[in-house]
Amino acid sequence: MLRIEDALQFILTHTPVLPDEEVALAEAVGRVLRRDALSDLDLPPFDRARMDGYAVRASETANASEASPVRLRAVGESAAGFAFNGQVEAGQAVRIMTGAPVPVGADAVQKIEVIQVGENGWIELTDPVTTGQFITPRASEARNGEVVVKAGERITPAAAAVLASFGHARVTVARRPRLALLSTGSELVEVHEQPQGAQIRNSNTYSLGGYATRAGVEVVSSGIVRDDFDATQQAIAEALSQADVVMLSGGVSMGDYDLVKPVLRVLGAEVLVEKVAMHPGKPTVFARLGEKIIFGLPGNPVSVAVSFHLFARPALLKMQGASDIHLPRVQAYLTRTVKGAPPRRSHQPARLLIRAGRAEAEPLKWGGSSDLVAFMRADALIVVPEERASLNEGELAEVISLRD
Ligand code: AMP
Ligand code: MG
Repeated sequence: MLRIEDALQFILTHTPVLPDEEVALAEAVGRVLRRDALSDLDLPPFDRARMDGYAVRASETANASEASPVRLRAVGESAAGFAFNGQVEAGQAVRIMTGAPVPVGADAVQKIEVIQVGENGWIELTDPVTTGQFITPRASEARNGEVVVKAGERITPAAAAVLASFGHARVTVARRPRLALLSTGSELVEVHEQPQGAQIRNSNTYSLGGYATRAGVEVVSSGIVRDDFDATQQAIAEALSQADVVMLSGGVSMGDYDLVKPVLRVLGAEVLVEKVAMHPGKPTVFARLGEKIIFGLPGNPVSVAVSFHLFARPALLKMQGASDIHLPRVQAYLTRTVKGAPPRRSHQPARLLIRAGRAEAEPLKWGGSSDLVAFMRADALIVVPEERASLNEGELAEVISLRD
């Protein structure tokens, strides 16, 4: 039985990185950028006004007061898209709008609210203005030629806005991993069917499909396969022909009908991980066949989710060349005692909360690895170290956030 770290190491070592492709920026959110993106101009490209008001020469306002206001003559206007072409000379000011270029000669902006606007283009200031006031200096947000989005970053909506600002109409990203999902189990029926007797509805397809999609993956097929050697072999072979990754659920424990591993071996796959010292999720399988990888995840709905997040998610992100492949871990105080599972490391479903300024983890009340209804409320996993039979209420514990 492998330690979690060793299993993950194995999996990542044998997970190939997919080739790049170029996509339109509008399709790039959620994809992993594969080349550093540079700025092609200074941002802002000019000294930019942060307020509606007047552009002035700060030194001329040094002695302004209620008793002796400074009078300036407004000689023009600078609006967004329409810069003032001249130069601001001594005794002059220029009407300016938010976002517009500060004209040559001016070095500060005063907001309209505190300016007396008189007749014939005269204005009065009753307060001194400091140099640079209400100006965003040229290149203060980004300098021409600097890296603005790094290779390996997943493109967020905000990053897409940055790429747009610097003219990246097309971007080089990793191809999305193509995933085939297979739910094994003769007891499984589809969501629209009425289970009879010992049957249950297939739910893993929906959790795994959702998690995988969130990790940037394209689900190309999904289906149920009954616990029959030939049927399983045929289904896996077909899945391998369609996808970069095949993800199975169920059929990996020690039951008589757990056929995933023997079938993988017959197909010529190298089974690299068979069991991991963890709870839930011990029967986690990882195999490789050429450039294709295969996950055999446990059938129980909670185990499958834990195993996915610990092993499959990092691998799917690595395939895309992502630099940040692990879920965030935080320290949080436990609101209740939680059980461990020595000698295995345990991951207990929990809710992560900020209360009175500190992180707290509230262990869920759940009925075990089949309890998908309770697990639906979980947004974190409390890590119970292998040697601990329980962690106590009030204790500080390591918690993995599932909110990715
Ligand atoms: P297995 O690992 O195949 O022994 O499955 C363990 C448990 O998970 C059994 O109770 C199965 O009925 C259940 N299970 C397996 N696959 C699924 C699935 N796709 N959806 C919901 N439950 C499942
Ligand atoms: Mg089964």
